[in-house]
Amino acid sequence: MYDLIIKNAKQIDESVTDIAIHHGKIVAIASSIIDQSERVLDLQNKHYVSAGWIDSHTHCFARSPIYHDDPDLIGVKAGVTAVVDAGSIGAVDADEFYQLAQQASTHVYSFLNISKIGLLRQSELADIQDIDVPLFDEALAKYPDFIIGIKVRMSRSVVGKNGIFPLVKAKEMQKKSGLPLMIHVGNNPPELDEIADLLTKGDIITHCFNGKPNQIFDKQNKLRGSIKRAIERGVILDVGHGGESFSFSVAERAKCLDIYPNTISSDIYSKNRLQGPVFSLANVMTKFICLGYSRKRIIDSVTKNVAQVLQLKNKGVLSVGYDADLTIFDIRQQTVSLLDSEGEVRQSDEQFVPLASIVADEKNHLIRIEITEEGSKNELRISN
Ligand SMILES: [Zn+2]
Repeated sequence: MYDLIIKNAKQIDESVTDIAIHHGKIVAIASSIIDQSERVLDLQNKHYVSAGWIDSHTHCFARSPIYHDDPDLIGVKAGVTAVVDAGSIGAVDADEFYQLAQQASTHVYSFLNISKIGLLRQSELADIQDIDVPLFDEALAKYPDFIIGIKVRMSRSVVGKNGIFPLVKAKEMQKKSGLPLMIHVGNNPPELDEIADLLTKGDIITHCFNGKPNQIFDKQNKLRGSIKRAIERGVILDVGHGGESFSFSVAERAKCLDIYPNTISSDIYSKNRLQGPVFSLANVMTKFICLGYSRKRIIDSVTKNVAQVLQLKNKGVLSVGYDADLTIFDIRQQTVSLLDSEGEVRQSDEQFVPLASIVADEKNHLIRIEITEEGSKNELRISN
């Protein structure tokens, strides 16, 4: 007997299937699964299912004085089964954040800030004394399944007079663990060219479609040579929308040149969730519908691609043997206004609406099911 059967679920290619879940894993996918299972969630050929959405850039350390949020508000309650906190904490707060993360229903991962103080203040890399390599290595060794990457923020307000040095240091600190390194780019200096030239395969440029002067296009609106070379070397582009870092026109121009982000992420925290322009990962995904991206590309950019980039084994794919992290959603035909970080507004005729999150609890071989507000309105429920 399975723990749960999801019946009549539409996949993003419009095929309809049943999915059986047992002990926190996807154990069968077939056109019709018959079982005595107690628990059935019938999607009636009308709701979609995909691998659980993973938001690769968020801020959810509750005690952070600048960027804070509740992992479940940006996670399972919004159709997101895993959130990655991108550098809110440094080594000093690793223990506390780990404890908090264990209490969430959402999977929470951390990209550890190379500054030991994390985002205690905006200028976390202005004082080089705050880079404490032994403390950093200790945190990485202590939480290998929780700290899955390294974060360095390379913009003027963060590094102060230190220029490119924090990135040189980060590349050095990355060598021991080989973990993915996420680089925030923003106002210059340091110059984007100088940053991009130091990056190697698998490094992640977040805020890739920001509209600031230090963006991926030069003054002539041409793609910077440094970015072209970085992409060719296998450097990853991550959206990291945020309050200041997503421009429709930059994203549009990139699409004309066939430049797509590998991962679509929100850079969400309480303020830009409540007041916009981010609101939710689903809202950010809808912006890419309006940019003309295919539905499949958008879903891949919050599932399969993220799992690959972040080396999350057993996640991001809707296949037998993978973790039972699933998102159930509608693609609703409804006109919606969307706002970027530059104050530009676009309309989309359809939008992603999350209805439920299913999260594998690997430790206890169970699943957690969270029906969102929209899911309840749609009378989505588990029948016994
Ligand atoms: Zn961020």
